[in-house]
Amino acid sequence: MPIDKYTYTKLSDIRSDIQSGSLSVKQLIGFYLQQIKEKSHLNAFLEVFEEEALANAARVQDKIMLGTAGKLAGMVIGIKDNISYKGHRMTAASKMLENYVSVYSATVIERLLAEDAIIIGRLNCDEFAMGGSNETSYYGPVKNYIDQTRVSGGSSGGSAVAVQANMCLAALGTDTGGSIRQPAAFCGVVGIKPTYSRVSRYGVVAYASSFDQVGPITHSVEDAALILEVIAGKDEHDNVSSSLEVPDYTTRLHEDAPRKIAYIEETLNHEGLDPEIKSAILHNIEELKAEGHIVEPVSFAYLDYVVATYYILTMAESSSNLSRYDGVRYGYRSPKATDLESVYKLSRTEGFGEEVKRRIMLGTFVLSAGYYDAYYAKAQKVRRLIKEQVDELLTQYDFLLTPTAPTVAYKIGTSKEDTLKSYLEDVYTVIASLTGLPAISLPCGTNSEGLPIGMQLIGKRFEEDKLLSFSNQILKERQL
Ligand code: GLN
Repeated sequence: MPIDKYTYTKLSDIRSDIQSGSLSVKQLIGFYLQQIKEKSHLNAFLEVFEEEALANAARVQDKIMLGTAGKLAGMVIGIKDNISYKGHRMTAASKMLENYVSVYSATVIERLLAEDAIIIGRLNCDEFAMGGSNETSYYGPVKNYIDQTRVSGGSSGGSAVAVQANMCLAALGTDTGGSIRQPAAFCGVVGIKPTYSRVSRYGVVAYASSFDQVGPITHSVEDAALILEVIAGKDEHDNVSSSLEVPDYTTRLHEDAPRKIAYIEETLNHEGLDPEIKSAILHNIEELKAEGHIVEPVSFAYLDYVVATYYILTMAESSSNLSRYDGVRYGYRSPKATDLESVYKLSRTEGFGEEVKRRIMLGTFVLSAGYYDAYYAKAQKVRRLIKEQVDELLTQYDFLLTPTAPTVAYKIGTSKEDTLKSYLEDVYTVIASLTGLPAISLPCGTNSEGLPIGMQLIGKRFEEDKLLSFSNQILKERQL
C-alpha cells in the first residue's frame, strides 16, 4: 500500500501532529479529498461533502488550538449511506431513495458532530443493507483495494474500503448479520458491532429492527473505542436503546489481563471454511495461549441452524419495514402509474432491486397465515435456544472466538451465481446477531495471495470495554 506522510491509523497521532504544528486540519482534509479522487474507481463514496468538510476545517482547527475541541476533533469520517444526515441525500444504495434528502439527522450523527468529527461523505453499501458483497447496490459494487477484481464484503463495503484505502480515517457502518465485521475482515481493518440496544438506531434505515446496530470501522482498536464511546448510550428517540451507563472505553483500553477464551470447534470443522483461514485461526489460538490466555475448544450444537434462523427472521422483519416504500409518501414513484394500485405495484417493482424483492417476498411468505407457525414462530423459538446456549458458554468464558467469515474476499460476480452460498457466508457473524451480543472482527493475517483474514471475538452483553481492551492487547502483541 502506498505510504504517504498523511497516512494515519489513529486519531491520537493526528491530534499530536496538529498540536505540534506539523499538520493542519485543512491539510488533512485536503489529503483525504485527494485520496478520494485518486481512488474513485473503487466506488466507495456515493457523494463527497467537499466544500462542507473544508468549511469545517478552520473551525475545528481553532477549537483544537484553543483547547475547546471535542473528543473527535481531527477525525475525518465517512458514513454508510443508510444513516440520515439532515439536508444530505441518503439513498440506502437503492433506486427507491435515489433523490431522498434527510429531513433530520440520526442520533449517531448528532453525537459525532457534537464532538467535532468532520463527515466527509456518504458511502456505498448493499441495497437496504441486504447483502454481503456490496454487489446489490444500485450504484454498483465497491472494489477491494488490495485486489480490485474482488469484492469489498458487505453490506458496509464502502465503509470498509474507504478506511482500508485511506480515504478517511474511520467510517460508520451498520450490522444486522455481519455487515460491519465481514467487510472489515475482507479489507484487513477493525469493525465492531455493539450489543443490541447499545447504540441508537434513530435515523438509521430499518432493515431488521431486532438486529440492526451501528458501529465503527477503523484501522485501530483505539479509534473504535473512541467512536463507540461517543455514539453509544440512551436516546429518547429509540425506545429500545439501553439506559445502562456507557463505560469509558478509551481509558479502559489498556487493561491487560489474562482471559479465558473458547473457540467453537464446529466453526473450525465447518465444510465451507477455507483451509488457509482455518490455519490462520489455529495459529492465532496458539499465540494467545503463548501470551498466557486460556483457550479451549467448546461445542455449539446449533451452528447448522443459525443461517436459516437469521434469514427467516430478518426477511420477515424487512418485509414489514420496507412496506413504507409505497411510492406515496416518499421515495421513487413510477411515472407509469395510473391509479393507487399501480402506484404501489409499479413503484415497488421498479424501485427495488432483485435481492430486496426476493427478501420482501420470502419475508411475506414466512409471515403468512398458513406458514407463520412453521417458519416465523419456529425461528423465534430456535433463536431463543441459540441465545440460551451461547449465553451459557459465556458464563464460563470471557469471549468466544471464530473466524469472521469462511472465505476471504471473493471475485466480483460470484455471489450472484449462488444466492444460498452467499447466505452461508454469514454463518459465523450471525451468531452474535441472533443473540444480540457485541462482536469485533480483527485482522489476523493474510492468505498466500495476500488477502486479509479476520478473526471474530464475541463478548458478553454490554462488555464492549473488555472486548476492546482485549482486542487492543492482541493487536499490540502482534504489532498489527
Ligand atoms: N449479509 C447479511 C444479510 O444480507 C448481513 C447484512 C447486514 O448485516 N446488514 O442479511
